[in-house]
Amino acid sequence: MGVATIDEERRPYDVVVGLEVHAQLATRTKLFCSCETTFGAPPNTHVCPVCAGHPGTLPVPNAEAVRLAVRACLTVGTEVSKTSRFSRKNYFYPDLPKGYQISQFDEPLGKGGAIVVPLEGGGTKVARIERIHMEEDAGKNVHEGRESLVDLNRAGTPLVEIVGRPDLSSGREAAEYLRILRDALVFAGVNDGNLEEGSFRCDANVSVKPRGEEKLGTRVELKNINSFKFVERAITIEAARQIEVLEGGGRLVAETRGWDEKNETTFSMREKETAQDYRYFPEPDLLPLVIDEAFLAEARASLPEGSASKRARYTESLGLTPYAAEVLTQHPKVAAYFEEAVALGADPVALGNFVQAEVLADVTTHGLDATFPIPARALSELLSLVKDGTISGKQGKELYREVKTRVGGGEGSVDVRALAESLGMRQLTDETALRALCEKVVAEAAKQRDDYRRGKKGLFGFFVGQVMKASQGKANPKRTNEILTEILEASAEGAP
Ligand code: ZN
Ligand code: MN
Repeated sequence: MGVATIDEERRPYDVVVGLEVHAQLATRTKLFCSCETTFGAPPNTHVCPVCAGHPGTLPVPNAEAVRLAVRACLTVGTEVSKTSRFSRKNYFYPDLPKGYQISQFDEPLGKGGAIVVPLEGGGTKVARIERIHMEEDAGKNVHEGRESLVDLNRAGTPLVEIVGRPDLSSGREAAEYLRILRDALVFAGVNDGNLEEGSFRCDANVSVKPRGEEKLGTRVELKNINSFKFVERAITIEAARQIEVLEGGGRLVAETRGWDEKNETTFSMREKETAQDYRYFPEPDLLPLVIDEAFLAEARASLPEGSASKRARYTESLGLTPYAAEVLTQHPKVAAYFEEAVALGADPVALGNFVQAEVLADVTTHGLDATFPIPARALSELLSLVKDGTISGKQGKELYREVKTRVGGGEGSVDVRALAESLGMRQLTDETALRALCEKVVAEAAKQRDDYRRGKKGLFGFFVGQVMKASQGKANPKRTNEILTEILEASAEGAP
């Protein structure tokens, strides 16, 4: 009895993905009022008549939010419109006190732009950006047992929505796109990149079509998939479901689906709304948003260097390996710390190695902030002591731990050189003393010395170890090697 293999009969399908990202602008206050945007505050403690939607209140745009939104455009090559306009997006939901969201519709802040996504088999793909617009966030509904509560702390928080074109072809490409976009926004100081706290959120539009078909298939929107891992899984599984439905002769519905992480499946939430459903109209309480040349020039001039540019510079002009450059640009504050120490004179390669091996484990980051165990200046001084031979590399690591306990939290100051001296850390470089020590070690290990001379060259490490031990790790390793070689080899030729 033959078993039909479905795969042979199956037509190949293309997966089509477009992403919509909501990124919170890293401002201190909300988009249209002066309430703070602090995450995790007790419910409804950052609310005022404006963001609570009281009648008669008027929104006042936050200039810093506009500045960051413009920066977001600049970092992904989106062209900033001279004039854009706020619109009301009407819908009814308890977490939206005004009954509408102030967003932008037909005249967004920016159009165009792209993210360059590396492909699995090498090469890259240009994933185009359709538009970037500003909008306010809604509040949050909290469900407790049979009761539903509303927390308006988040209502009115400034966001940019970055709408990508359907240029991505898999869950993996979508996850790459998001990583790169998040990195760009974080390095630009626009967004804190915090997926867990919801300041970087993603919806994915997923459809499939028979390969070669021009017309896009029915689109399903996957809502709020909040980790890079789940984005990849959710899109892959949703695309497979759609193919399954089509192959079974079924029809797909345009709908919004959620991701069930536990069962690794997507589930229907509601039919997809269309733009008409929202009855957009221009916001009568706000003037058009005009970005003049001076504002744009200022935003351009103050745009921090991106991580890709930093990586290129670290490898090309500072001599770091691509891996080291990658590690040091994982967070803007880590890169800034590294660059500060370089500017103070630290050797970039030695510094890069030391940061990776010792310092990074002690760094804590939260959003755009980071705490370092010791100041960059102290690290730079410490490494200069290693470099000029005052202390050994091993002593450098010990000294780092000492400095760390003394500055506690990275803010205090400490005289690194004085500390090394007070701890008796000094590399044994004095020629006479070091030679005397080496000779003593060789003389005391007569058996190993004779074995070495008879050809057991592997014993060399033993002598180095003995010298290090006798000097409590202070012997200069390079000179120790040279002197030991001299003693052992010379004696082998001349002495009885
Ligand atoms: Zn407010
Ligand atoms: Mn939106």
